[in-house]
Amino acid sequence: MNRLRLRKKAEMGDKMEQNILKEIYDISTSLYAEMCSDKEKDHGKLFEYMTELGRTMADADRASFWKWDRHKHELWTTSATGVDRIVIPDNTGLVGKALKEGRVVVTNDPYSDPDFNKAVDMKTGYRTKSVLVMPVADINGVFIGAFQIINKNGDNGFDEVEDVRKLSMAALVCGLATESESFFEESHHDKLTKLKNRMGFYNDFSRKYTKVIDEKRELSLFICDIDKFKRVNDTYGHNAGDDVLAFVASILEASCSEKEAVYRWGGEEFIMMMPDTNLREAVEKAETIRKRIMDSTINADGNEISVTMSFGCRLFDEKLSIEDNISKADEHLYTAKESGRNCVIY
Ligand code: GH3
Ligand code: MG
Ligand code: MG
Repeated sequence: MNRLRLRKKAEMGDKMEQNILKEIYDISTSLYAEMCSDKEKDHGKLFEYMTELGRTMADADRASFWKWDRHKHELWTTSATGVDRIVIPDNTGLVGKALKEGRVVVTNDPYSDPDFNKAVDMKTGYRTKSVLVMPVADINGVFIGAFQIINKNGDNGFDEVEDVRKLSMAALVCGLATESESFFEESHHDKLTKLKNRMGFYNDFSRKYTKVIDEKRELSLFICDIDKFKRVNDTYGHNAGDDVLAFVASILEASCSEKEAVYRWGGEEFIMMMPDTNLREAVEKAETIRKRIMDSTINADGNEISVTMSFGCRLFDEKLSIEDNISKADEHLYTAKESGRNCVIY
């Protein structure tokens, strides 16, 4: 009788394992298909699938991957179910503890654990019964985030050895994805102005703007350059020059609609891309920005400075390459410089 019960139990266990394996294959197949598709995407989907994979492998009710922003001293996640984005200080909660101590943290009685952060439960209305947090490191062994699973299905709570074994693959991939995401971001952005750089421009061009061109929609652009900027550096110093660049970038950025984008093309040159905009509208926009910059007083490293900018505008010609279109806009910019600067030429 006992033997029969044991066999039944073992069979049930096998069936459960098979179901979990099937779920794992389903998730990894979907993830593989997603990664191979050439549609526009970010790392978000990858994290979504990986947290789902971790949740399934460890047979938990919920899973979330927390990224650690060391500069802002924040932990944040977008993968907790039912909430857009949760941000908590990095010295709080079990995730904070796991990262501070650089070790796995398990509790099967969180409400009597002084490190458990009840705030998230209060926000979501969820009741946490068991938690396992696994810190995640980059390739150099520096902790960059943590994988958290909540509420082990069944009554037993999490097992520090078994569940860590089950979670390790998903946690590892989340670490690699976080690293890949930050490399991507850093290589496509300029640190000083926070704008996308030339690499970011070409990435957007091949995804966003070629679509606009293929759909025969209008696309305008301008290239602009700060006038006599070398003089700013020579007179007030490089730090003041940097402040001026950051200020100009913020004006350009604030002038973009949702469809538009501005890029730091090089030194003190910027390009703005304006889909569904004709040349007249683009020139008007450049004029508005030109005046706004001319009328601004910039606090640059303790100095009050004013600068002006010159603009070269162009309607994108689909028969020409992107490089040739930019050269044509650049010719207009050159004319603007020749005509005394602080003007828009098209
Ligand atoms: P023009 O009106 O003809 O454009 O004159 P300009 O002085 O602006 O042009 P030029 O190309 O001679 O000088 C550009 C200067 O921009 C030279 C370079 O040192 C400065 N610059 C480029 N990048 C940066 C930066 O990141 N920070 C600072 N502070 N200066 C920069
Ligand atoms: Mg210049
Ligand atoms: Mg220049």
